Amino acid sequence: MRLPLLEGREDRQGTMQWDAGAIYGVAMVPKLGPCRLCLVEGERRKSHILPAWAYRRIVANLPSPARPLQVRAEATIETDRQIWEYLLCDACEERLSPWENYASKVLVQEDGPFPWLAGCTPVVSRDDLEALDASGLDTDALCRFGSSVIWRASVSREAVSGLSLGTYDEQFRRYLFTDGAPFPEKAALVAYLQKPPKTNLPPADQIVTLPVQKRNSGYSCHKFALCGVVFYLFVGGQVPDVFSVLCLARTRRVCAIPSDRFMEDLGGLILKSPPKGVFARKQAQEARANAGYAASIARMPWGTTIARSR
Ligand SMILES: [Zn+2]
Repeated sequence: MRLPLLEGREDRQGTMQWDAGAIYGVAMVPKLGPCRLCLVEGERRKSHILPAWAYRRIVANLPSPARPLQVRAEATIETDRQIWEYLLCDACEERLSPWENYASKVLVQEDGPFPWLAGCTPVVSRDDLEALDASGLDTDALCRFGSSVIWRASVSREAVSGLSLGTYDEQFRRYLFTDGAPFPEKAALVAYLQKPPKTNLPPADQIVTLPVQKRNSGYSCHKFALCGVVFYLFVGGQVPDVFSVLCLARTRRVCAIPSDRFMEDLGGLILKSPPKGVFARKQAQEARANAGYAASIARMPWGTTIARSR
């Protein structure tokens, strides 16, 4: 099973959805203009919102030519389109790249190891949720990496819609641009490491999602998933304490949880999104042999759980 790249934003009820379809039209943003990080006018690079290595990693174990499935509310397609915009100058891309490289080494690897999870020690657990000490890792790099993905999405004009850090854009720009700058005060970055599922759902290792936002009273929450980790960034005057005490920047702690819930949500989304194009033709072939698209998904490891829960 090819696993998906998902995109989404908040729905009308304020629930964070992965499926509501971001808009992209990268051609409208010119190559020349102010770098969004250093603010200097000049030529800007094609800046990926999510790292290019993540696209390669989610299809690494599939036969060539492998393309990620891109799941949107209106359709699921196979595409190798990556999501980028002219955002940053060369020097600023270089500035962010060590954090991105470090993340690539500790998120779930192509052949399965999860160095970030392996490098943590338990602090406290309740039911399935564990708090772990991650101080054996470069948590500063991970925090800057997670923040930079959401900041890029926020300052992009077209690559990602429906997400804004608002007045926190500038605080995060300074945090990312200035050596030694502290993590913004009224913010918390929480990383949920996705452990192997307890049921027969597949692991979250090969899932990548574009950042989405949910507004709450007094704070707002932004999240994205990447190769085994769901990053949450909370900003606002009333970020609940429970998130502040798990902030990677302040406490060097992370959460770990079996990936069942996350995968159930995604499975439901994939079932609702109609297959189109090459993917639809492949599904039609599958359907002739096995009773239809939903049934063919249900035959996959996660199917039975979806059928039970929905
Ligand atoms: Zn720059």
